Amino acid sequence: MNAIASIPSARSRQDLLIHGARVPAVSGRYFPTLDPATEQPIAEVAEGDAADIDAAVKSARSAFDGEWSGLRAAERGELLLRLAQCVRAHLDELVELESLDSGKPVSAIRRQDLPAVLDTLTYYAGWADKINGQVIPARTDALTYTAREPLGVVGAIIPWNFPLMIGMWKIAPALACGCTVVLKPAELTPLTALRIGELALEAGFPAGVLNVVPGFGKTAGTALVQHPDVDKITFTGSPVVGRQILQGAAGNLKRVTLELGGKSANIIFEDADLEAAVKAAASGIFFNSGQVCSAGSRILVHQRIHDEVVQRLVERARSVRLGNPRDAGTAMGPLVSGVQMKRVLDYVAVGRQEGARLATGGTRSGDVGYFVGPTVFAGVQQDMRISQEEIFGPVAAVLPFKDEADAMRLANGTRYSLAAGVWSADVGRIHRCVRRLKAGTVWANTYGPTDVRLPWGGARDSGFGREHGDAAIENFTEPKTVWINIGR
Ligand code: NAD
Repeated sequence: MNAIASIPSARSRQDLLIHGARVPAVSGRYFPTLDPATEQPIAEVAEGDAADIDAAVKSARSAFDGEWSGLRAAERGELLLRLAQCVRAHLDELVELESLDSGKPVSAIRRQDLPAVLDTLTYYAGWADKINGQVIPARTDALTYTAREPLGVVGAIIPWNFPLMIGMWKIAPALACGCTVVLKPAELTPLTALRIGELALEAGFPAGVLNVVPGFGKTAGTALVQHPDVDKITFTGSPVVGRQILQGAAGNLKRVTLELGGKSANIIFEDADLEAAVKAAASGIFFNSGQVCSAGSRILVHQRIHDEVVQRLVERARSVRLGNPRDAGTAMGPLVSGVQMKRVLDYVAVGRQEGARLATGGTRSGDVGYFVGPTVFAGVQQDMRISQEEIFGPVAAVLPFKDEADAMRLANGTRYSLAAGVWSADVGRIHRCVRRLKAGTVWANTYGPTDVRLPWGGARDSGFGREHGDAAIENFTEPKTVWINIGR
């Protein structure tokens, strides 16, 4: 077991991390961060705003222009591997801290989030010294080639649903490419980002390479997006904020990558393995209390098996262990905040008003903590709000369909294009559906896995650009064309 010395207590103050030091905000302000399971404060966090973002960007710029650019690519890779070692050495502490701040069950963080963080670090550590240009023989009188150069200072803005994992999806490739980073975690979950910043220093990253500035979206987030010396914004969050970011980034024409929301269809045909399909459909919407951008929140079911699937889904929903996220046996913890809980319960009321049948769940559990149990709506129609709008909670909408064409029409009939699932024993049908589905990722006979080697992202209201794999390397570098006259 690792020491859990750094878990903050309610009295502790968590300062910003700028240029290798923990510093209070210029304003001197702090805001509380709560444990969603108990509604009790965990710590007071320094509230960064425009002045602190400016200091962090200056630090990131000076690191970029200085020591960081002087390192060999292989040395950047070694530092990422060393950060992976530090994360491993502090695994228990990070699991506990992430759970306290977000309400996620420790079992899920240990099984999914931390392994993904380590995989991301080691994967991009391997990339650092393999970012090559090309010699392109365009002319006989010149040596013509390309080099890939780091973009510069990256602003990373992340949500609260997978703070460690999504944070690392941005930090690791940016650092591998030789960029420096100012990370603004979500105001609801700032603690693990600060800890990762400290571990990066422990691993040997120079001061200023990774700065962490917690604060609110309207102040710290906007300041980062509009800062004239930031070269790129990589954002994961809601479509509303994605649009604001696009406008805010226009000033100096920053590059922008947007990973936004989803309302993904998980389609179950009559010939599917129903046991496997329903099991995956349940975890596809109830995992992380449904607070997942690619949650399979619309379960499209052939009309002849609709009632059977609903019944099996209800049984699975009722067997989910909802409770204290720190208990190893808990499968589902609270929602992240009171605001999020109200939003989910409001959508349950909307679904009932719209005439969908509430088959199970839909209520708050207990009166302390933001717990809402697994919820299933049956007989949902395409134009209902619970079928069209992202709820970001454990609410499944089951929609019946007539045939394959109808399933495709329903699946593609939202504003989002992030992910989709297809369940069928017919390989031809699977390939037809893969072609027709408007989604950045299509799963067949499974639902939900991601891997840092595979591109991840969406289109339309789900954003644009891809993270992961070599796509992320392109996100954080720019090609330079070199033309050297060698004469004839
Ligand atoms: P959000 O958009 O409200 O906040 C995300 C981050 O943006 C936070 O750090 C917040 O402080 C910051 N922010 C808010 N307003 C800002 C502004 N005007 N300028 C700059 N930054 C600002 O989203 P959320 O509620 O934290 O997260 C839930 C959303 O994220 C959902 O819509 C979900 O689908 C999406 N999400 C998408 C993915 C993906 O990979 N596509 C992954 C996880 C979450």
